[in-house]
Amino acid sequence: MDDLKTYAKNDDEQTGLLTIVKGFSDDIKMEFGLDKCAKATFKRGKLVKSENIVIDINTTIQDLEQEGTYKYLGVSEGDGIEHSSMKEKIRKEYYRRIRLLLKSELNATNRINAINTLAVPVVSYSFNIINWKLEDLRRLDRKTRKLLTTAKMHHPKADVDRLYLPRTSGGRGLIQIETSYKLTTIGLHTYLNSNEDCLLMIAREHEQLKNTTSVDVQAAKFKREFDVPDIEKLDNEGATTYARRTKLKAKNLALEHLKHKWEEKPLHGQYPKRINDKDVDQAQTYEWLRTSGLKSETEGFIIAAQDQCIKTNYYRNKILKDGTDPMCRICGKNQETIDHLVSGCSELAKTEYIHRHNKATAYLHWAICKHYNIEVKDKYYEHEPSTVEDNEEATILWDMPIQTDREIKANRPDIVVKNKKEKTCLLIDMSIPTERNTSVKTSEKLSKYKDLEIEIQRMWGMKTTTIPVTMGSEVIDLRLEIFENR
Ligand SMILES: [Zn+2]
Repeated sequence: MDDLKTYAKNDDEQTGLLTIVKGFSDDIKMEFGLDKCAKATFKRGKLVKSENIVIDINTTIQDLEQEGTYKYLGVSEGDGIEHSSMKEKIRKEYYRRIRLLLKSELNATNRINAINTLAVPVVSYSFNIINWKLEDLRRLDRKTRKLLTTAKMHHPKADVDRLYLPRTSGGRGLIQIETSYKLTTIGLHTYLNSNEDCLLMIAREHEQLKNTTSVDVQAAKFKREFDVPDIEKLDNEGATTYARRTKLKAKNLALEHLKHKWEEKPLHGQYPKRINDKDVDQAQTYEWLRTSGLKSETEGFIIAAQDQCIKTNYYRNKILKDGTDPMCRICGKNQETIDHLVSGCSELAKTEYIHRHNKATAYLHWAICKHYNIEVKDKYYEHEPSTVEDNEEATILWDMPIQTDREIKANRPDIVVKNKKEKTCLLIDMSIPTERNTSVKTSEKLSKYKDLEIEIQRMWGMKTTTIPVTMGSEVIDLRLEIFENR
């Protein structure tokens, strides 16, 4: 038993009820939490002053003071529920928890999970008990985003809807309080209307008297908003299961709406639209959001780059319209778009792109060596590839031209792996174009090494395959930060 309320017509009856409760709790050796108990007397619906109730020599239940409140299941009540003071209290506690979590050392994914499980329930627990207005809840969501922005987790110009999509759909998995309220209301409505418990039927009738703010009216509105169809109750299905099933269906539809909204935006929508193309593996593309364990700032920044809201000259000229020359401040030859910066700038190609290419390829080399039991450093970023690695299983060549009988121009893939046991050979070559061009680049590489493949197969007698590793540069290019902060 958690909290208990007893109702009686007058003090005598109330004393009788409490004596029974006390008798039971004494018998089972439970102690009355007396300091938490209070008694309230209402006359014509108004709280009035009355006597304390004395159950026995050691037990007195205090009368609730005129302006006092009593906490029932965590909600302050006095003369009815104290809505506005509860809202204030909840808001404060919710923000306090978010601030604490944003100071933590958690990585991006874990931070969001922590907010969802430790802060959001402070608010969602009170849904449909405290009379939240949608505007109140939107304010909470807005302030949450503001706090994330202050913590450098969410770029102020990055997409808002994306924050609330699951990580498997390219979002960041934060719970949107407004949507959560709508879904809870739909669930509650389903529950109330399918439950045959006589007390709940009274609760339902009482609800319906509220007109515009009733659960019925609100749920109908929210269902229309997310296009939730009427869902039939199954035979033998309990009210709770039925309500949960309806709520889940509504949730999925709400997320679909949100995803669609994201994709339809002219600037922010370009990225998800590209991911919808047939040549893109969605799950793999969004894998980094789930498993990379990046810092919140880093994740926020990559997302901002994908949303194309980094302050490039092009962005300033076209979106902010502040009269900045849109040309690249480094090479001056092309417009300074994100695409140009991450993979199209002739000046950056000489330095930054090579550095990035080598870093990414070194990681691959490290992972391959590990796979073939060649000793490497524990941390991939400390790995320095050597030109030849060799053991009884494999030979691994790094950035080495292959000597062939007839002259072949493309004879220097990034990594060559000779598997001695299986008599196979892999030619691995890495490229990091902008996400738009990943497919083009992949087929380009495949044909580039065709001649070398044939030649090696002939020379070494090994079945040879080319593996072009193509990675969208937006994901791994963190150096864009330089531009943002200039
Ligand atoms: Zn340039």
